[in-house]
This record gives sequence, C-alpha cells and structure tokens, in this order.
Amino acid sequence: MKILVTGGAGYIGSHFVKHLLDNNKEVVVFDNLSRGHKESLPEKIFFEEGDLLNPESFKKIFSKHKFDSIVHFAAFAYVGESVERPEMYYENNVVGSFNLIKAAAENGIKNFVFSSTCSVYGNPENIPISEAEPADPINPYAKTKLMIENILEDFHSAYGMNYAALRYFNAAGAELMGNIGESHDPEPHLIPIVLNTALGKREKVFIFGDDYDTEDGTCIRDYIHVNDLADAHLKALTYLQKEKKSLVVNLGTGTGNSVREIISSSEKITGKNITSEITSRRKGDPAILVADNKKAKETLGWSPEYNLEDIISSAWNWHKNKKF
Ligand code: UDP
Repeated sequence: MKILVTGGAGYIGSHFVKHLLDNNKEVVVFDNLSRGHKESLPEKIFFEEGDLLNPESFKKIFSKHKFDSIVHFAAFAYVGESVERPEMYYENNVVGSFNLIKAAAENGIKNFVFSSTCSVYGNPENIPISEAEPADPINPYAKTKLMIENILEDFHSAYGMNYAALRYFNAAGAELMGNIGESHDPEPHLIPIVLNTALGKREKVFIFGDDYDTEDGTCIRDYIHVNDLADAHLKALTYLQKEKKSLVVNLGTGTGNSVREIISSSEKITGKNITSEITSRRKGDPAILVADNKKAKETLGWSPEYNLEDIISSAWNWHKNKKF
C-alpha cells in the first residue's frame, strides 16, 4: 500500500508522515514548500516538489507510482489571510484540490483522506458540536474546505472514490522528541504565541476579547495534539480500506480550554511569567468551539491520548530548541 501525502512538509502533514513511517508504510510526499519545511521530513523519504495548481507536476508522480490512497493536507490555512486575500484561498485550496481530486479519480485511487476543519460549522448553535450541526462557514478559508468536501462527495457518488473528511479542532503540540513542530511565519496561533512570549521572543500575548459569554470571558477552544490527529488519519485510511464507505468526522478531545487557561498552564509548565493584555475581539471568532467526538470514537476506534499538559509541554520542548 503506497500513500501519497500532499502537504507532507507542513505542520500536521509532517507529523502524519512520521506516524506512517513508524508504522512501516510506503510514503511519497508532494509539497511545493511554500509554507512547509523540507527539514521536517526524514532525508530518505521519497519527496516530489510540485504544485497542485500545475497538474503536470503531479501527473508525473501518478505515472511513476501506483498509489492506493491519498492524504491531502496541502492548503493555505490562515483565517485572517483568507478574509484579506480570498482569491489566494479559492485558487490554491479549491482549484488545487480539484486538480488533485480529478487526477485521483482518473487514476483509480480508492481512498482519499482530506484535512477539513471545525470552522465549517461557523457559529454553531450546539456545544459540543456533533457532525449533525449544519455547516455554515463564515470565512473564506472555511468556505474553501466545505467546497472541497462537496467536490469529494460528488466524486464519491460519480466514481465510487471513498473519502474521509476530517474536521479538526485546534491542532497543537509537537512530536515528543522535539524534532518537528509548528513553524509558521507569521505565527497566528495561540499556543506558539504564548510560548514565544515565555521565551522572550515576544513582549506579550494579546488576548482577543475578555467579554465573551464564558466563565473567564475569553474564548474556549478544543486543543488536540498533532500526534492524536496523525493517529486518526491512519485510522481513517484503514476505515476507508476496510469499510469501503465515506466518512465525515470531527477530531477533537471533547474538552475546551479558555485563552486564559492556556496562558496560566503555559506559565506553570515553562516556569516563566507570561505577560498578557486584553485587546478587542478578533473578527469571526466564535466564543466556544468544542467537539463532540463520539462518532470518531465509534467509527474509527480512535480516542485522543494526550491532554493539555502534554500539548503544551511538547510544544515547549519544540519551541525552546526550534530547528527551523
Ligand atoms: N487568540 C488570542 N490571541 C492571539 C491568538 C489567538 O487571544 O494572539 C485566541 C483566538 O481568539 C482564539 C484562540 O486564541 O479564541 C485560538 O486561536 P488560534 O488562532 O490559535 O486558533 P483558531 O481557533 O483561530 O483556529
């Protein structure tokens, strides 16, 4: 079984590639390195540099390799940027994914795992959020992800290509040895920002609003360890291979933590004082996003292994000695 991983040099993709190699799977990574890092991959990996917007570049690998499955991470993933530059997102995410999905169907790929997002739910009415919650995305990034889910659904109906759309909550943490981790520039995500403040690389953390309807007034998110996500991707692949059915599923821990809780846990774990300042709300931030992960547990036999402390301490280990 050979697996094509697009975006395998990115944050979540590289952790998944490591998990596949640890499980003795055959992997080919396809990445344009626009946001990923070649250093996050082992030297001996089969790596193809190329762009989904240039179908010729990946047609070549379909002729070189016989894949059983594709796991598709490659995408732009900054909400704020998608609001300011929607054309980048519709082109890179939707057109790029469409090119890949079309080539996958033409090449008889049977299993397609797709990185989706809990932000497809927009401002959900029910917490925790189950897959029954209607998808109603409120920013271009999330809209592109839902469009791709819809394309996959139609290709499934027309050509029988099974897919798993994995709707992640907040991916966080790092590989436990500190060799790979989150490395974005600029860095929009809370935990790296908090840890970079602990390291003195930033002066303070700006808390985006403390007037939400939550216990301490700050937003609550469901932070899930990137290794738990990697494990769920492999389980989703196995599900597709065995069950020969498609699947849309949430990946979260079912536990929420506020921005203030992230800061105070990080202070405890790092032993550093982390200065913060309240600023205005960030546009498009719902107060609470927490997963109902029953479906993932039941269908994939998956459950998250890591808690918030594991997430922050592994991320701390990575950020302290960050290699790239
Ligand atoms: N957040 C914050 N300050 C920051 C970055 C993020 O208060 O500098 C908050 C943000 O409003 C959200 C939570 O932290 O409630 C997680 O944000 P992040 O960007 O990490 O992930 P998102 O939930 O947007 O996917």
